Amino acid sequence: AQESYASIRDKPAETLCGQRITLKMNAGLMADLPSLESSGAEGVGLFRTELQFLIRNHMPKRAELSQLYARVIDAAKGKRVVFRTLDIGSDKVLPYMKAVDEPNPALGWRAVRVGLDKPGVMRMQLQALIRAAAGRPLTVMFPFVAQREEFTAARAEMDKALERERILGHPLPESLEVGAMLETPSLAFAPDSFYSEVDFLSIGGNDLKQFFFAADRENELVRRRYDTLNVSFLTFLENIVQRCATTDTRLSFCGEDAGRPVEAACLAAIGLRSLSMRPASIGPVKSILRRVDLSEMHQIIHTTRDEGHQSVRPAVMEYLRGKL
Ligand code: PEP
Ligand code: MG
Repeated sequence: AQESYASIRDKPAETLCGQRITLKMNAGLMADLPSLESSGAEGVGLFRTELQFLIRNHMPKRAELSQLYARVIDAAKGKRVVFRTLDIGSDKVLPYMKAVDEPNPALGWRAVRVGLDKPGVMRMQLQALIRAAAGRPLTVMFPFVAQREEFTAARAEMDKALERERILGHPLPESLEVGAMLETPSLAFAPDSFYSEVDFLSIGGNDLKQFFFAADRENELVRRRYDTLNVSFLTFLENIVQRCATTDTRLSFCGEDAGRPVEAACLAAIGLRSLSMRPASIGPVKSILRRVDLSEMHQIIHTTRDEGHQSVRPAVMEYLRGKL
């Protein structure tokens, strides 16, 4: 019989083969935080900080941000919150910032590129985060890093912010993790030194997929054209999992696909052990994970690929139907 989502809320996302998968939630507003309790999420795997910038008609002040981030950390009651620094540009334009006219905004001046070129806002944000942590652990992630040097420069901004706060007499975080989103295919081929420099990586599957297939995620004509379970994309993701394993780099996945049960089960089957999704998806994803055997699924994925199919979806669906 199928378990109700409520009945498994406090149970682990453990597969039939005994593999634990960490399920976290994505958030961006204070209103999302009660879901941390109700969904059974093990933390916030992606806090999209740009929403706070997008809902105002003026640039938020550092004190406002720091109070807000402190409330987020309070509400998480000791569970980790991964704060992603401002990811603007492309589909996310701030009403009070002069928009730049770009021929291809998704490939343009966005996220950490803006943060590094015009560091004022990023510095303010990092300072607000350190103050919000007020001596508690802090986790920060930079979006849209495409090469190692960008991460190095962003991390240096973090170190400078820490130093400034120390001089000003503010307590520093008890522990600090600084990671990057893996959203451009280039990072999958970055040198090992990149992998050892980051404290963790989180795959932004929405962007990674659009760049992998060169198919705009905002364009109705092409956005559904390529299946996430396309064998080429899964092979690519599996390579990233393996790189992270050999370089001992913590990896998670926080794109929308993590919240789709069939996709989530496949991500687990190729080795992902941490998924972050909208809170409402945690029940359905946990429910399916508790009914699958990852080595069986892995076998199906590889056999389908070796047989030359385009997508593993039909074979995986057939396997899952037998489990429902
Ligand atoms: C992603 O790209 O998968 C992601 C999680 O970030 P966003 O959807 O905010 O671009
Ligand atoms: Mg993204």
